[in-house]
Amino acid sequence: MQEIRKNKRRPTRTGKSNMFSGIARCADCGAKLYYCTSNNYEARQDHFVCSSSRKKGKDACEAHFIRAVVLEEGVLQHMRLVIACVACYEDVFREALGARRSAEAKKELTAKRKALQKAESRIAELDRLFKRIYEDMVNEKLSETRFQMLSDDYEHEQVELRIKIDQLTREINEQEDQAENVDRFIRQVKKYLYLDKLTPTILNDMVNAVYVHAPDKSSGHRVQEIEISYNYIGILPASLLQHVQNAKTA
Ligand SMILES: [Zn+2]
Repeated sequence: MQEIRKNKRRPTRTGKSNMFSGIARCADCGAKLYYCTSNNYEARQDHFVCSSSRKKGKDACEAHFIRAVVLEEGVLQHMRLVIACVACYEDVFREALGARRSAEAKKELTAKRKALQKAESRIAELDRLFKRIYEDMVNEKLSETRFQMLSDDYEHEQVELRIKIDQLTREINEQEDQAENVDRFIRQVKKYLYLDKLTPTILNDMVNAVYVHAPDKSSGHRVQEIEISYNYIGILPASLLQHVQNAKTA
């Protein structure tokens, strides 16, 4: 609910809204980019600027000015590249994302599950042992001192086992979630294999944030980096996509 409200798109004074409102963010200060429209119908001039910069001036943050059409085209191109990677090299893509589908990871997961089971049954066993020594003490088969010593030992072992169980459970869940998230993302991608135009639905289905960097003019050309954080899997480094493409052609 919070998330929905946060991403609600408010139309500007001119009544226009843009699907990137709420999604486009400043890569430097993290603030949302503010959508500015021109009064005339020159849609190509509609643009985004960092809202910190707009409110507090250039000292707070650089403008990060980007035209809406440039942003849309950049994101569309990146999505198409990612879609192509998934469509053609799904296994390599999965592996590159560390989805831990490899045999080794599976072995590791099995070992962790076994260790978890062992720890759980040892806890149950300690409960039984405790009951037994308690009965022995009551029936005077065991001295109170000896009972105290043993029960301290059991208790100590149980505390350690509980810590171990927590740790293992967390690790197993993380590993399973990661694989699950990559699966979810891939399912989403497969809905849009032939993507040629962005719509708000497609954008929201696949992307949770787009980080726009300040333009870099050091090369003599205006170069502006855009980073896309995809739902379920986050930002895909360029090197990862490169690796996926190379792995198959090599
Ligand atoms: Zn900023």
